Amino acid sequence: MKNDLIAAIEAGGTKFNCAIGTGPDDIRLSTRIETTTPMETMREVIAFFDHGARQVGKFNALGIGAFGPLDLNKNSDTYGYITTTPKEGWKYTDLLGSLRDVFHVPMAIDTDVNAAALGEYTWGNGRQCDPLIYITVGTGVGGGVLINGKPLHGAMHPEIGHLFIPAIMSDAPEPDGVCPFHGSCVEGLLSGPAIAARWGAPAENFPAEHECWGEFSTLMALALANLTLTLSPQRIILGGGVMHQTQLFPMIQEELQRVLNGYLQTYELMEGVRDYVVPPGLGDQAGILGAMAMAQQLL
Ligand code: ADP
Ligand code: ZN
Repeated sequence: MKNDLIAAIEAGGTKFNCAIGTGPDDIRLSTRIETTTPMETMREVIAFFDHGARQVGKFNALGIGAFGPLDLNKNSDTYGYITTTPKEGWKYTDLLGSLRDVFHVPMAIDTDVNAAALGEYTWGNGRQCDPLIYITVGTGVGGGVLINGKPLHGAMHPEIGHLFIPAIMSDAPEPDGVCPFHGSCVEGLLSGPAIAARWGAPAENFPAEHECWGEFSTLMALALANLTLTLSPQRIILGGGVMHQTQLFPMIQEELQRVLNGYLQTYELMEGVRDYVVPPGLGDQAGILGAMAMAQQLL
C-alpha cells in the first residue's frame, strides 16, 4: 500500500545509498555507506535499517537495486547474488540472503538501472512510457528496460552498457576503449573513465563546447539508434554523472535523427524528439526511489 514504510537500498560500487520512506516526498531517513568488503558494508547496512526501524517505524518491505551482474532467476541457487562482477571482493556475494537472514519482510531485488527505470516510471520522467529505457553514464554505463511497466529480465537482464557501437557510422577513427571485456563497447567509450582516458582529464573538466562532447553525442546516438530499432521504446532517460553535461541532450537528439536518417517516421523521433531522450525527473535519486517502488509493488 502507498503509505507503508519501505526500506530501500541502492547498492553501488562506490557507495550503498539506504533509505526508509514511502516515496520521493517522504524519505524519513537516509544514509550513504561506503562500499568496502561485503562483510563490513552489509554489517553497516543492516545496522542502519535496524536502528532506523526503531527510530522511524517498522518497514514492511525492502527493495534492492544493485550493481551486477546479478542472478535474478528465482529458481537458481544463487538468486539474489552479485555474480561475476569485476569489483574486488564482491564476486558471488549473497546480497539478498544476507538481508533475508535478518529482516523478515518481503524483498525485491533488481539491477540498479532496472530499479532506476521503475523509479522514473512511477514518479519521474518515465510515466506512461512503454517500453521505457533508463541508461546511466557514470563510472560505468548500465541500462534498464521496462516493458509494460515491468523490468525486462529474460536469460539474465539487459547489459546495455556493453553494446557494440558501429564505428563505421562515426567520422572519427575508432578510439581505443577501456572496457576490460570488449575494449570499445559503449562503456569502453562513453563512461566517465573512458572519456578521461581518451581526452586526458576527468570528464567534468571539459567545457560544454569541447570536441569530446561532439564525439560522445555521435557514439551515444549510435547506441540509442540500436536500442530504438530493437526495443521501440517510447522514451529513453539518460542519467549518471556524465549526463550532468546538459548540453548533450540536444546534441544527442540531433545526432540520433541524423543517424536514423528519416527511417522511423514516429512522433518520438520527429517533432517529439525533445521528449524522447531526456534527463531523469528524479535526478540522482532515481535508483534509490526505484528500489522503493519495487518493494512497494510487493505489498
Ligand atoms: P557512479 O557511476 O560511480 O555511481 P556517477 O554517476 O556520479 O557515479 O558517475 C561518476 C563519473 O561521472 C565520473 O567518471 C565523473 O568523471 C563523471 N562526472 C561526474 N560529474 C560530471 C560532470 N559534471 N560532467 C562530466 N562528467 C562528470
Ligand atoms: Zn564492455
